[in-house]
Amino acid sequence: MAKKQLPKNELANQQKTQFAPLLIAPTQVLRGEKCLAKSGEAIARLGKLPLVVGGNKTLDLIQPYLQPVLNQSELKADYASYSPDCAESSLAILTEKVVSHQADFIIGVGGGKALDTAKLLAHQCQLPIVTIPTSAATCAAWTALSNIYSEEGAFQYDVGLNRCPDLLLVDYSLIRTAPKRTLVAGIGDAIAKWYEASVSSGNSSATLTIAAVQQARILRDILFQKSAIAIKNPQSDDWQEVVDATVLLAGVIGGLGGANCRTVAAHAVHNGLTHIQAAHDALHGEKVAYGILVQLRLEEMIQGNQLSTTSRQQLLEFYTAIGLPKTLEELGLGNVSLAELRHAAEIACNPHADIHRLPFSVSPEQLIAAMVSTTVVSSSLEKNKSKLTHG
Ligand SMILES: [Zn+2]
Repeated sequence: MAKKQLPKNELANQQKTQFAPLLIAPTQVLRGEKCLAKSGEAIARLGKLPLVVGGNKTLDLIQPYLQPVLNQSELKADYASYSPDCAESSLAILTEKVVSHQADFIIGVGGGKALDTAKLLAHQCQLPIVTIPTSAATCAAWTALSNIYSEEGAFQYDVGLNRCPDLLLVDYSLIRTAPKRTLVAGIGDAIAKWYEASVSSGNSSATLTIAAVQQARILRDILFQKSAIAIKNPQSDDWQEVVDATVLLAGVIGGLGGANCRTVAAHAVHNGLTHIQAAHDALHGEKVAYGILVQLRLEEMIQGNQLSTTSRQQLLEFYTAIGLPKTLEELGLGNVSLAELRHAAEIACNPHADIHRLPFSVSPEQLIAAMVSTTVVSSSLEKNKSKLTHG
């Protein structure tokens, strides 16, 4: 299986560097309370025969809201599930659906995996795409990138798409109905932008990359300031600002920064963890958030980086306050075997993995050591503390 994924990865990377188009933003973004109900005209500009792609539950949930909007504009929709996952097999079945319905555009509804499937389907069928996120868990509604998983949910490879979505609908009333946990996970995924982009691109002299890294820092600060209130009160202004941060600003950073500014160790750890069955109950952003701590731990252990120690302590406090997982136990992986952990670490360290964007090499053994010590109190911090208390 590993052999099969590499050539596609290489091909995708080659395409990125050969043409390197700027894929910064969706063509149109409509947002507001109940904005889906008012979006019929904008949707109808893209075609007459939409195929709506989402998870089984989401399709049931969205139909009463979406169908009247489509009816108003006399659009004839068909609905299709991406189950069991954003996998090659699901895409093959959905492509048949596109043909049988004679779909002339795709509407993706749901979380990251549903939107990734819908975007890639549209890309492969060369059709316009509308994305309607039903949670704030990722920036997938914005970006020109899809992750492919196995039917069992193990990460396989990512695919760069030829453009961002044609229309993105951010309906705050819809997103407010999502479980609180999805917003927390979205915060974990979005805050990773700073910790990954500053490592992969912090020294870049390219204008757009500098802009992306600085926006990632701003995104981090907004999340530090506003997340606690946002999670506590979905009716607050802070809630909407945090949703904009995780769904929109995180997407802007991915768009401006491009392939170079995307992911380092935090996402590599996520990708490795998806190969452990027990990790499938944890959300993408939860695994990535834990992955940031692992990345900082690697910088501490291998580079002796004091700044990373301070950043990790700051994040541990933040995670405790908002409920992001800090350890394997909190990810639901307390009983995972050493063999499974090793397998995940080997996947995370494969020669093409983004972990190698760190400015030092990492072995699976070092990664495992970092993975089991994300909350360790650093000896240098201890020394400082004892200096403070004794001196
Ligand atoms: Zn992510």
